[in-house]
Amino acid sequence: MSNPLQVKLPESLKGKTILVAGAAGFVPSTLAQFYLDLGAQVIGLDNFITGSRSNIEILKGYEGFEFMEWDISKNLPDFSGRTIDFIFSLASPASPIDFKTIPLEIMQVNSMGTQNLLELAKEKGARFLEASTSEVYGDPEIHPQVESYVGHVNPIGERAPYDESKRYAEAMTMMYNRRYGVDTRIVRIFNTYGPRMRPDDGRVIPNFINQAMNNEDITIYGDGSQTRSFCYVTDLVQAIHTVMFSEDSTPFNCGNPDEYTIKEAAEFIIDTLGSKSKLTYHPLPSDDPKKRRPDLTKLTSISDYSPQVSFKDGLIKTMEYFKTLK
Ligand code: NAD
Ligand code: UDP
Repeated sequence: MSNPLQVKLPESLKGKTILVAGAAGFVPSTLAQFYLDLGAQVIGLDNFITGSRSNIEILKGYEGFEFMEWDISKNLPDFSGRTIDFIFSLASPASPIDFKTIPLEIMQVNSMGTQNLLELAKEKGARFLEASTSEVYGDPEIHPQVESYVGHVNPIGERAPYDESKRYAEAMTMMYNRRYGVDTRIVRIFNTYGPRMRPDDGRVIPNFINQAMNNEDITIYGDGSQTRSFCYVTDLVQAIHTVMFSEDSTPFNCGNPDEYTIKEAAEFIIDTLGSKSKLTYHPLPSDDPKKRRPDLTKLTSISDYSPQVSFKDGLIKTMEYFKTLK
């Protein structure tokens, strides 16, 4: 039974300071804007390895926003004398293409970068949230995935730089919680899409939308029977916000449980966008998870979270965003 009273979401965050690592990115910039709208002061850090300066320009429209160009893997800016109430550890490239092109940078930000932020949380007495991922479950043997499942990850595969460093980040977060009493949260984010994604980041939704918009061939990897469950970005931000204001330091799945095969998603996008594109089939990347859907029982049992944006509406909003980039 759901019990919304277990999470009391604040109506305003006036007077609070929030640090967002990765603020120029797709999810982090949307989250930063959400907190600016709630009246918080937001400090953004980013080295632009996959983020965009235009996302920072949007945030700079708010008086409460401050940005520092910074690689958090090395160290952090000097925050001595400053209060920080909440830290969001969201800096990490997240597209499977990045796993091949910048694997070391991914491993460094999720290990050293996460630890640097945890040290800051310890020093400031800030609450800390780690953005983990459904990838910690690897190619899952149970479906849908529950938080108690410990995963099925290939530690030497092409996805390992991301999967294993996110698993390490979770371990580091729990270690700071147990050993130093840092007030931590962990979210395991499932496939999220929406405006501010890079149109060429190689993930399935930007690829299919751009191909459909241009009536080009849709590139299905494998036979298209693998599944994913797609969450619109504002729904994800609401889920992350709910976990940050819960009292539970163990991991929460965050996403949308509506599951599609990749072929169904391609057909849905062609249909929704009124495209003339045809399906084409290409080799499946190694270790590509065959099924993925979040079990959201844990999150919905402590809150009234439920995704609000349909796949159709989310696709249209994302397409409109991609059109503005042309
Ligand atoms: P993104 O690439 O758009 O955002 C990540 C941001 O982190 C970028 O702006 C990048 O420049 C920045 N960054 C990376 N390394 C850095 C460093 N060393 N120092 C400073 N900044 C650095 O990716 P996203 O999809 O918005 O993902 C955001 C977070 O959510 C990531 O931690 C990712 O692993 C997690 N996540 C996302 C999804 C998803 O579907 N989008 C799924 C699971 C987990
Ligand atoms: N995929 C696809 N065509 C593309 C891009 C991706 O068929 O042009 C598939 C990919 O093989 C995977 C799924 O879509 O099975 C989701 O891929 P994505 O890169 O978005 O994220 P993942 O969930 O694999 O991290």
